[in-house]
Amino acid sequence: MADHGMRVGQGFDVHRYSDDPDRSLVLGGVRFEGERGLHGHSDADAVAHACIDALLAAAGLGDIGQLFSDTDPAWAGADSLELLRLAAGAVRDAGWDPVNVSCSVVIDAPRIAPHRDTMRDRLSAAAGAPITVTARHSEGVGALGRREGVAAWAVALVARQPGTGEPS
Ligand code: MG
Repeated sequence: MADHGMRVGQGFDVHRYSDDPDRSLVLGGVRFEGERGLHGHSDADAVAHACIDALLAAAGLGDIGQLFSDTDPAWAGADSLELLRLAAGAVRDAGWDPVNVSCSVVIDAPRIAPHRDTMRDRLSAAAGAPITVTARHSEGVGALGRREGVAAWAVALVARQPGTGEPS
């Protein structure tokens, strides 16, 4: 089987909105104070989670739930940028270097564009590789259009570290 030393991975995440008034919306490592938060064991950062799943999938390391169980109290309220940093470390430990990640999030409000560069910078710093974020409106379609939650998709590219042979 030809091996070009590169792998892609895909990630998806969705979180429903929380009724807990103490939770704030967190996306791409940016906290939107005063905006209704998402339900989740961690800070429910769907953008960071999709990026994590894409990186783990590319490296053949399973998914976010295997690394950071949502029943483990260690990750309760976790900063997902820290989870991303740990996941990128696991990818490197497995013999792969993250090359880049591209994430798209579907959300109608608040506007993401003013925060896009901050998200890019924080996510990229956590992963040690460029991560870009784009945002789409739902056009009113389905559960996302009814503002029941937020969904994010990501793709990641990883490259085999020099001299590490052919990890599976
Ligand atoms: Mg998640």
